[in-house]
Amino acid sequence: HAKDRGRNNYQFYASRMNEAAGERLQMENALRQALASITPEHSPFSLHFQPQINVADGRVVGLEALARWHDPVLGQVPPDRFIRIAEDSGLMQPLGDWVFWETCRHIRRFREAGLSGLRVAVNISAQQLRHEALPMLVRGVLACYDLTPQDLELEITESTAMQNPDLTLAILNQFSDMGIVLAIDDFGTGYSSLAYLKHLPIHRLKLDRSFVKDIETDANDAAICSATVALGHNLGLELVAEGVETDIQREFLTRLGCDVLQGFFYSKPLPADQIIEYLRHFQPVTP
Ligand code: C2E
Ligand code: MG
Ligand code: MG
Ligand code: MG
Repeated sequence: HAKDRGRNNYQFYASRMNEAAGERLQMENALRQALASITPEHSPFSLHFQPQINVADGRVVGLEALARWHDPVLGQVPPDRFIRIAEDSGLMQPLGDWVFWETCRHIRRFREAGLSGLRVAVNISAQQLRHEALPMLVRGVLACYDLTPQDLELEITESTAMQNPDLTLAILNQFSDMGIVLAIDDFGTGYSSLAYLKHLPIHRLKLDRSFVKDIETDANDAAICSATVALGHNLGLELVAEGVETDIQREFLTRLGCDVLQGFFYSKPLPADQIIEYLRHFQPVTP
């Protein structure tokens, strides 16, 4: 009977939800432990770096730092997953602080390895932007490694930028006044009003990779990319394309006028040692 079936469905979903909640809780506990286990010598977290290529001269102009977590029991946990859990369980602040320290330590290391003129982009999440002390932390970490604000870039997603407009604007203004480049990440996937974005002190838009994926076959995606590049340029912003995997995509996005390209076509995100090797052997390719 329908009523029984309804109850069975309910039990089915309830048990599935318990399973998911249990898994989530296990991961939250593991994440808490992982954060507590960080020492100067050892961390279950690490950073990978992905190059960003300037279209005009074919050179690597920057790197994006991307967090990785290896847990002894859970294995490699994808960042999309553990960042969300950190956000939901109040663990994003310590994790985000670690990312800043580790990024700046690496910028110093890259410099000592003879690599110059590289800006490193750090992703910051909604919880981090809620902390008014964030600019002070960033200033302190930069000073500690004898770096300048020009060495750093901050990425916030379009949806993060839409939360808490007043506080977001106040914090972003401080970063921008310091001279830090600001980028809107995953652009096109949120629902930001252009009227609001216009007031943010941002310098770059990162076109989400979902639009890049089928750019050569899907006329709508191509139109979105083209319109976004035009819009961004009209607002005086630099356009970065994410998720460039093929030469055809590279060519297409170059023709649309994208300024900077990032994606597996050039390189996957790599551990520091490997990115240093990559950069040492990189040959600029001009269009
Ligand atoms: P994101 O900031 O948009 O980073 C780009 C993601 O796209 C990375 O995934 C990168 O590995 C992937 N990617 C780059 N090029 C290509 C490509 O050509 N093809 C495909 N299929 N993928 C490509 P990843 O490293 O798994 O990170 C996922 C997301 O997790 C990031 O998206 C970011 O939102 C978040 N995340 C990672 N590290 C951090 C962090 O330190 N802090 C914060 N707040 N978020 C982070
Ligand atoms: Mg990003
Ligand atoms: Mg992105
Ligand atoms: Mg993303």
